[in-house]
Amino acid sequence: MEKITDNSYSAGTPQRILLTGGAGFIGSHTAVTLLERGYDVVLLDNFSNSSRDVPGRIERITGKPCPCEEADLLDVVATSAVFEKYAEAGGFSAVIHFAGFKAVGESVEKPVEYYGNNLTGTIHLIEAMRTHDVKRLIFSSSATVYRQDNPVPYSEDFPLGATNPYGWTKVMIERILTDTAAADPEWSVALLRYFNPIGAHESGLIGESPQGIPNNLLPYVAKVAVGELPEVRIFGDDYDTPDGTGVRDYIHVMDLAEGHLLAMEYCGEGMTGAFAWNLGTGVGTSVMEIIAAYGRACGKELPYSVQPRRAGDLASVYASTELAERELGFKAKRGIDEMCRDSWRWAQAKV
Ligand code: NAD
Ligand code: UDP
Repeated sequence: MEKITDNSYSAGTPQRILLTGGAGFIGSHTAVTLLERGYDVVLLDNFSNSSRDVPGRIERITGKPCPCEEADLLDVVATSAVFEKYAEAGGFSAVIHFAGFKAVGESVEKPVEYYGNNLTGTIHLIEAMRTHDVKRLIFSSSATVYRQDNPVPYSEDFPLGATNPYGWTKVMIERILTDTAAADPEWSVALLRYFNPIGAHESGLIGESPQGIPNNLLPYVAKVAVGELPEVRIFGDDYDTPDGTGVRDYIHVMDLAEGHLLAMEYCGEGMTGAFAWNLGTGVGTSVMEIIAAYGRACGKELPYSVQPRRAGDLASVYASTELAERELGFKAKRGIDEMCRDSWRWAQAKV
């Protein structure tokens, strides 16, 4: 890592941050946090997995403008045009790159679409950034980049690998960004490895909206709680965990948003190179514990049945949080009950 002078600050002028995929689940919550901390934001989204009313909802929460450019990262001209449009007004100080496809199962059925959207989209973004001299990038990576035979807790220096095309896109993009930063010492790149983001903004105005029947546990439980699905299917209760059900590191999406802010500021303080940080809580919670916590949040016991294990699932996954805490000062504040309460408020608001 190397320290250089950062020219992106100019006293009194808020820094403008571009959020690709900014209308999605994690991007929208991060936009709220950035606006509340005095940054300007611009969202770039093609709305392939989000709704056009999200920017307006962010404005309602924050009372600040949240411009959104409808563009597809696969379209080089449209992507570059977003940078051109803001160039005269000072351009972007940094980019947070959320845009991408994210469903593991779908990636197995449509690998070319996943490699195409996630890799090509990222390369177009890097090219546009280079052309417009923006060299600070925060990337949405995932705990899925850790090879399956690693022991818990997962630490940033563990070997990487993946078991599905989605995971490989994250491993490959991390490589591309690391090489980009190695080739040009002005780049500053954060690779943020999220564990299991859940919850919603406390206003109930923004949250996660998966299409169809959810694959992930929390949105599935939420649908059972509102009565759209009959019961939670527990994928295996014979794991080597305290109650036999799978253990994961769930993190509130607003804590995750805070992690982006800290990583972005770290990278803006003259630190150059590529850095990987886990964003998790370091606490493992089982499927049974989630069902119980959600039951407390919605005030009723949720029905469930035990099913066979889901192929490819691990017994227990949680983060080592030591590096992010030491280097970024990041520590998740919200517990499982708050995550379920905020998820429940959002689930009710949607029906
Ligand atoms: P999301 O689907 O809600 O948000 C992604 C956004 O990107 C959507 O609004 C979508 O319309 C947009 N998008 C996709 N392809 C695009 C393209 N080519 N051009 C422009 N916009 C495009 O997903 P999310 O949960 O907010 O996740 C954000 C990022 O974090 C993703 O890269 C995802 O892989 C990563 N991630 C998510 C999780 C999770 O559990 N949610 C965990 C680890 C990593
Ligand atoms: N899970 C479950 N039923 C579901 C979805 C998930 O029992 O309908 C379990 C799954 O086996 C894992 C945990 O819940 O132990 C979290 O799964 P999710 O898909 O949300 O996240 P990931 O497996 O990607 O960490």
